[in-house]
Amino acid sequence: MHELSIAHSIIQIVESSLPLDFSKKISTVHLSIGTLSGIEIDALTFSFSVIKKDTLLTDSEMEIEIIKGFASCKSCNIDFELNSYGNPCPGCGSYSLNILRGKELKVTNIIVDD
Ligand SMILES: [Zn+2]
Repeated sequence: MHELSIAHSIIQIVESSLPLDFSKKISTVHLSIGTLSGIEIDALTFSFSVIKKDTLLTDSEMEIEIIKGFASCKSCNIDFELNSYGNPCPGCGSYSLNILRGKELKVTNIIVDD
């Protein structure tokens, strides 16, 4: 499952950003996920809840901000919202698009319990 390896990556990113002697608990991991990233939020949340056990994130929850996808048309140069691949430009019907945003997966913030 794709989301399982993503959840592993998220935990690795968080753990590698902590000092070696870190002994507090992480309460929340904030993420930004684009609608064009191909990530299923439900599957990711489930995978995370399973594999966070026995890590520093065992008591943490994910807070996910959804980033809407945007594309620009290479033919007529308009920008428009695009939340799934395979949709044409609404202006001219072209499928030749530049994805501007929506593919991201980022850890944006880590909240630590005192
Ligand atoms: Zn167009």
